[in-house]
Amino acid sequence: MAYSYEAPVSQSLFDRASAVTPGGVNSPVRAFRAVGGTPRFMVSGTGPYLTDADGREYVDLVCSWGPMILGHSHPEVIAAVQEAVSRGTSFGTPGEGEVALAEEIVARIEPVEQVRLVSSGTEATMSAIRLARGFTGRAKVVKFAGCYHGHVDALLAAAGSGVATFGLPDTPGVTGATAGDTVVLPYNDLDAVRAAFAAHPGEIACVITEASPGNMGVVPPADGFNAGLKELCAANGALYISDEVMTGFRTSKAGWYGVDGVRPDLMTFGKVMGGGFPAAAFGGRGDVMAHLAPAGPVYQAGTLSGNPVATAAGLAQLRLLDDAAYAKIDAVSAELRSLVGVALTKEGVAHTVSAASNMFSVFFTDRPVRNYDDAKEQDVFRFTAFFHSMLEQGVYLPPSAFESWFVSTAHDERAIERIAAALPAAARAASEATA
Ligand code: PLP
Repeated sequence: MAYSYEAPVSQSLFDRASAVTPGGVNSPVRAFRAVGGTPRFMVSGTGPYLTDADGREYVDLVCSWGPMILGHSHPEVIAAVQEAVSRGTSFGTPGEGEVALAEEIVARIEPVEQVRLVSSGTEATMSAIRLARGFTGRAKVVKFAGCYHGHVDALLAAAGSGVATFGLPDTPGVTGATAGDTVVLPYNDLDAVRAAFAAHPGEIACVITEASPGNMGVVPPADGFNAGLKELCAANGALYISDEVMTGFRTSKAGWYGVDGVRPDLMTFGKVMGGGFPAAAFGGRGDVMAHLAPAGPVYQAGTLSGNPVATAAGLAQLRLLDDAAYAKIDAVSAELRSLVGVALTKEGVAHTVSAASNMFSVFFTDRPVRNYDDAKEQDVFRFTAFFHSMLEQGVYLPPSAFESWFVSTAHDERAIERIAAALPAAARAASEATA
């Protein structure tokens, strides 16, 4: 299939959007600012493919930044949504769907004894931190540079994702007082965590970490890092919060917990559990969750929390995610990692394909990447050339060198062949790129 690189309809939509919305988008990484060019306005998705407003089809390796783990428009998810919508869209009362979704989460993830549903990953991490502070009576939060936990004020310091993409130092609008309670440490550095506990005795409410980071590109925890965090938290009376918004229900049936078995006090979820709708959650130890209103004094609420359409979509998606589904996603990921590695090696492009279960990204450097500083050392200009060549050939990658690539059960041989066919030219473009 031939692809013309012009995108006149997307461009005119972007012009309209820019007149009424800051930067023309409702979430910064969508804007293509890191890579340049016209963001593609998508009109439909089927299986592993997206179709844009100019009528061009792309193999999708973003999967809505994680949620679309079964591909787009999965018939059983769509049917569940249609059935739910036919009964009404929001009641503002409890409903059985949210009970069933909570039961599914508790059944899959052993450390989650109680769970509260919310509408976004940001809400989940914000609420988990409030709960940790309320439970411990302490103020300070430890986070790691390059980890993104949503746009929570206290967690934006040295965040990954869009903050990494745009190189924003610290965000205007977050007060010194708020940021002052956040201790930012280098990722994969337990000595730094030990030192922080020593420097702030009795003050640290929690350590929050991405279970396996995907927001500075994919940088898995070093052996023993998460276990060390858990131990240090327990020894110092702080809670260990594992942010599984990205990894949850993706990296295994029980998310990253299913991979490393380190038992968090609190966990946060989003993306996959919403089946493409706004549903997220936080949960964990029953004694901690019991501090949440109305059972306890820590307030947290939401008009659309546990929305019946979102919970129906999430539940339908989770129920389809059995062992066979994860085996399929893992195999697709392994095949793509190998194809990308071979293509870049053939063109002599320095690179590291970094994986955590089926999540992966490509760093354009051959130096090891263990933290955010290492990730920033890569040749971003090579990623930019690679990205545009792939886009031109009909493969939609995350428009940033600091994001995970996502695959789905719908990525079949035809989709993989299309990616494989695009890689040689993209690798050549990366090799010929100049800073
Ligand atoms: N935590 C992690 C690890 C994430 O990757 C994200 C989003 O990318 C969030 C939290 C925030 O989730 P949301 O965008 O749903 O607010």
